[in-house]
Amino acid sequence: MSGTDVFSNKSRRIAIIGSGASGCICAYFLLKAGLEVTLFDFAAPLRTLLPTGGGRCNLAHAEYDFKELAKNYPRGEKFLYSVFSKFSTYDTISLFEELDIPTYIQENGRIFPESNSAKKVREKILEKIKKAEFVKEKVTGIEVIEGGYKITTENPSPASVTFAGGSRTADSSHARGGGKECSRWWFPHVVVAIGGKPSFNILKNLNINIIEPKPSLVGLNCDIKIPSGIVLKNVLSGDMNIKDDLLFTHFGISGPLAYTISSIKAGENFPYKLSFDLYPQDFNLQELLNTYPRKDLKNILAEIFPVNFAKAFLGEFADIKACKIDGKTRDCILNKIHNFEVTITGTNKGEETVTAGGVDLDEINPKTMEAKNYPNLYFIGEVLNIDGFCGGFNLQSAWSTAFVAAESIIQI
Ligand SMILES: Cc1cc2nc3c(=O)[nH]c(=O)nc-3n(C[C@H](O)[C@H](O)[C@H](O)COP(=O)(O)OP(=O)(O)OC[C@H]3O[C@@H](n4cnc5c(N)ncnc54)[C@H](O)[C@@H]3O)c2cc1C
Repeated sequence: MSGTDVFSNKSRRIAIIGSGASGCICAYFLLKAGLEVTLFDFAAPLRTLLPTGGGRCNLAHAEYDFKELAKNYPRGEKFLYSVFSKFSTYDTISLFEELDIPTYIQENGRIFPESNSAKKVREKILEKIKKAEFVKEKVTGIEVIEGGYKITTENPSPASVTFAGGSRTADSSHARGGGKECSRWWFPHVVVAIGGKPSFNILKNLNINIIEPKPSLVGLNCDIKIPSGIVLKNVLSGDMNIKDDLLFTHFGISGPLAYTISSIKAGENFPYKLSFDLYPQDFNLQELLNTYPRKDLKNILAEIFPVNFAKAFLGEFADIKACKIDGKTRDCILNKIHNFEVTITGTNKGEETVTAGGVDLDEINPKTMEAKNYPNLYFIGEVLNIDGFCGGFNLQSAWSTAFVAAESIIQI
C-alpha cells in the first residue's frame, strides 16, 4: 500500500457524507492517522455492502496490472490510472488482511472474503471505525463558507449523533471540535461519498457539473417470447464481441451478458437493436436433420439448447418433423440462431447494480480526489462518473478513491 506510511498523527476533524463502502474505508484511513471523523448518513453504516456479491461481497478482482484493471471501467478508465497506481488490487488484499478479513480468489478471478459473508466484512470494518462519530441525518446541502464548508442536514436531533461502535452521546460535536448549529455543521474538510443513487441536489449550491445518472449492470427490457428463467451458455453479442451467459426473464434479458451490455451502452438512447449468436460454434443442422428424420424440430434443437427454449424459439416450426424441413427453412432457422435480433426498449427498473454518470471527472484531480475548484472538498466512490463491470470492480474503485482522498487529506 504505497502511502500508509504518511498516516501520521495529526488532529483535524473531517466530515464524510455517506457511510457506504468508500466513506467507511476513507474513515478507517483517516482514523488510523489520528484524525477525527464525522460520518453523516440517514441509514445504517455499510448497509450497502450487505447485498454485494449475492451476500458474499465480491470485494476486488485478481487483475494486478493497473492499466488492465482500468479497462474494466466503461466510464473512468483514464482517470483511474493515477488512482490505481496508488492503490490497486494488491493493496485491497493487504487492506483486508489489515482489517482481519482474509480473502481468496475464485476461479473466475473474483476476490471474496474467506468467510463468504458480506455481513462479517461489515462487522469487521465497523469495529475498526468505532471511534468515528456517526450522525444519522440526511445531508441536504453543502455550501462554501470561510475556512471550509457548511453542511445542512434534515431532521437534526442531538440523539441522532452516535458512534459507529454503538454508544450514544448528546451533541458530541461541540465537545469534539466540529461546529454544529441547529441543522448546520461546518468542517474544514469534507469528503462526499454518497454513492450512485443519491440526490445530487445536495451539491446545488456548488458549481459542479453532473453527468446525468443512468442505470448500469441491469437487465434489459425487450419483447421476446422465451419463457422466463432459461439460461443459454456462452452466447456471443455480435455487436460487442463479448461472450457470456444470457438469461431470459419476464421483462426481457438479464444475467452476465446483458449486464455487461447495459454497462457499455449505459449512455445510449432507447430503443436500440442488439444481435446475438446464440450458438457461436460449429454446428451442422443439416447433418442432424438427416440423422434424425422422424424427430420434431424442437427435439433436434434440444441437442444444443434447453428443450423449452427450442420450442419457444422455433414457434410454428417446433413440431414439424426433421424430414419435412426444406433448405430455405433450415437456413432461416440457422440465421435466427446466429443473428438473433432483439430491440431493447429500456432497463428493468430498480434492478440496477450501479449508476453510470455522476460528478464529472473533469471537476476532480485524480491525484487527490479533490474538486479542482473547491479546495478541501473531495469526492469518492460511485458518486463520481466511474463505474465498472461485474466482478469486484466497483468496490475496488470505492476502496481506491477512498485511499487517495485520505492520503491527500493526511498529507495537508
Ligand atoms: C445488489 C448489489 C450488489 C453489488 N455487488 C457488488 C459486488 O459484489 N462487487 C462490487 O464491486 N460491487 C458491487 N456492487 C456495487 C457496490 O456496492 C457499489 O459500487 C459501492 O457500494 C459504492 O460505494 P459508495 O461508497 O460509493 O456508495 P454506497 O456504498 O452506495 O454508499 C453511499 C452511502 O451514502 C448515503 N447517502 C446518500 N445520500 C446521502 C445524503 N444526502 N445524506 C447522507 N447520506 C447519504 C447512503 O445512505 C449510503 O449509505 C453491488 C451493488 C448492488 C446494488
